[in-house]
Amino acid sequence: MTLFIAAAVDECASGPCQDNGTCLDRRGAFSCTCPRTSRGKVCEIAMASSESDRVKRGGDFCSAIGCSNARRKQSCKGKSFFRFPKDDETCRKWVQNSRRQDLLNIPTSTLHARKYLFCSDHFEDKQFLRPTMKDRLVWNAIPTIFDVPNPPPKLTPTRRKLERPDDHSVPASKRSCSSTVTQSGMFHIQGPTGRSKGVVALCVLK
Ligand SMILES: [Zn+2]
Repeated sequence: MTLFIAAAVDECASGPCQDNGTCLDRRGAFSCTCPRTSRGKVCEIAMASSESDRVKRGGDFCSAIGCSNARRKQSCKGKSFFRFPKDDETCRKWVQNSRRQDLLNIPTSTLHARKYLFCSDHFEDKQFLRPTMKDRLVWNAIPTIFDVPNPPPKLTPTRRKLERPDDHSVPASKRSCSSTVTQSGMFHIQGPTGRSKGVVALCVLK
């Protein structure tokens, strides 16, 4: 796509190409070579019209809501991208945790085949074989870190000092959590013998 404008000097000086398109100065004109994500004279037409459309696509982009990480992005070097698992049960957990309602009715085989991905940002350290590298997941890894209003509970919650589990004088839901608490929930604590130790409030710290 070429746009001719009447001006002198470097036609690309103003950086006319949007979406990181590459500008080519053509003596009185310029042309933009657009990335895969856009088209138009100055790459002004996004191939996917919105963030939500973009994250819906599988392939190069992380499919998490609000995450713009992509395989080929320079800024994402060092991040890993993991395809939705073939295992149906695990894949359902991935979809549920991501809060991607639109994926709920898509079969696991389709999600896998279309190369839906989550980037390494959505997995807690313990979900990696090598937490420092974050390049491989454990076989049953579940993503839990999503920037959504109702994120899933963490698999390895940071526990605030638990009150005595057998203290039922205060309802579990009323036991104090600090102001940095983002979510709290009820967890059933099992003793070593499987005997219930009672229900306590767990606070998940950000
Ligand atoms: Zn991501």
